[in-house]
Amino acid sequence: MKLRHLVPQVKPLPEGRPAACCYCQSPLLQRHQQVPKALIDTHVRHTQAVRHRCTVCGRTFRRYAQGASRYRQSQRVMGLAVLLWTLGLSQRAVAVVLAGLEAGIHRSTVLRDIHRAVASLVSVRRNATHFDDETSEEMAL
Ligand SMILES: [Zn+2]
Repeated sequence: MKLRHLVPQVKPLPEGRPAACCYCQSPLLQRHQQVPKALIDTHVRHTQAVRHRCTVCGRTFRRYAQGASRYRQSQRVMGLAVLLWTLGLSQRAVAVVLAGLEAGIHRSTVLRDIHRAVASLVSVRRNATHFDDETSEEMAL
């Protein structure tokens, strides 16, 4: 089994529209609000999040741009942190390197990123039905 580590890209604006409400799966949604979101990233410092309101259940939820999530740091920084750690750097050294790239995060945040990546990898393995040496999987963080 091969694992390919992909470092996600970050875009400043969300693209497209959600297909359904994430709570009740209704396709009837209203664009409710667009809010700015500060981001810790190597290139993109500010992005936008779009809030949608479900007309059936009345709940709102956010849609983030590619590479952004509810976390303060971008998925690119999370991926770089895990990549640097897998190359053998300590958590403290990863934090120093990312600070040099103007995307500084604390070493405990590096540890959380590693834990998220491991959980993501475990879920990929559980969802796979067949494993052999020719299988290639991509791990996006
Ligand atoms: Zn709903």
